[in-house]
Amino acid sequence: MSFFPTIKELPPDPLFGLKARYNADSRSDKVDLGIGAYRDNNGKPWILPAVKQAEIKLITSDDYNHEYLSISGFEPFLKEAAKIILGTESKAIKENRVVSQQSLSGTGALHVAGVFLKEFYYGGSKSIYLSSPTWANHQQIFRNLGLNVETYPYWNNDSKSLDLTGFLSSIKSAPEGSIFLLHACAHNPTGLDPSSEQWKQILYELEAKNHLIIFDSAYQGFASGDLEKDAFAIRYSIDQDIIKTPIIICQSFAKNCGMYGERVGAIHIINPINSTATLGAIKSQFNKIIRSEISNPPAYGSKIVSTILNDPNLKQQWEKDLITMSSRINKMRIELFNLLTHELKTPGNWEHIKSQTGMFSFTGLSSEMVARLESVHAIYLVSSGRASVAGLNDHNVKKVANAFDEVVR
Ligand code: PMP
Repeated sequence: MSFFPTIKELPPDPLFGLKARYNADSRSDKVDLGIGAYRDNNGKPWILPAVKQAEIKLITSDDYNHEYLSISGFEPFLKEAAKIILGTESKAIKENRVVSQQSLSGTGALHVAGVFLKEFYYGGSKSIYLSSPTWANHQQIFRNLGLNVETYPYWNNDSKSLDLTGFLSSIKSAPEGSIFLLHACAHNPTGLDPSSEQWKQILYELEAKNHLIIFDSAYQGFASGDLEKDAFAIRYSIDQDIIKTPIIICQSFAKNCGMYGERVGAIHIINPINSTATLGAIKSQFNKIIRSEISNPPAYGSKIVSTILNDPNLKQQWEKDLITMSSRINKMRIELFNLLTHELKTPGNWEHIKSQTGMFSFTGLSSEMVARLESVHAIYLVSSGRASVAGLNDHNVKKVANAFDEVVR
């Protein structure tokens, strides 16, 4: 007799499965272009100087301890996190229209958003629209909750650019009040963001159909090196009063603080009007979700990020660190592009490698080419052809360019 008659073993998670194959590979010149984590020019994880200094400050302070946080999380962190994403002069903050809840990084924020919308947004009757393609986990986060998931066109594979026409027509044809998940910047996996003019068009169309927006902000400051620029779409929607429905923001500090494993993040709801009763109700429901799922959020990472955000010197250091990371990645984009285009004269147009932004490049390599990169050249990337540019450095970029050239020809 089986106690679990319907259970089946699932294949490994594509990304973590790739990581396991990379770890097991004994070739000394292997290259990891899989997982989205920043690496320094020697291919090593990088602890941001701002984080190192904040850790010392935190653990040597008199009131340092490992007590439980409140269910909402660490208030000094939440307050500053809202300012980072919305801007210090944010109208929504001044008008007291923001509810913030600490979450298990960006993934946890998305999960809380899904649980909340399923229960309270028209009783979960609205579909959630995800870009095609999107970060693979988006699908299962919302599907696991029983939400209906749809997709909107995003990437035009022929022109390797934004399918704006398809995107806008999806917005127009989706039933009134649908949920649209937007990548705030550094779209994963394509590395392709709308221009500010395109963003405006997208936001006006979303508002015209009363759609509810979830902004997934996993790379603020990491894409361009500038926190303000990377929050353009969010701040424009709110500060210009474009969007009249509530807006949900899922904020992660995994990439921009290099705090991947510490799970630091927040979910913010921006209410269109100042209503103490609504804000109080939202906060209490967030608290109920968090209490039942994780009891209270993790303290250490949020205290480190809070130490940075509440200390002007550390905040300045962090802003320098963001530039260090984003400019090294951009340098690698240019080097790979130059090698392919000018030195090797590899067939095809590689312009997109240079113009894409953030951690990833959607290379356009087929799954067969990706498989050959792994088997012949010990270069690991996901089968969609998405490469984590952070895995490139001065020591391996030539090898990678030569290998791309070999598999393309
Ligand atoms: N959204 C997107 C688009 C991402 O790429 C990621 C990380 N890969 C996340 C959310 C969540 O990351 P985390 O839970 O580590 O903050």
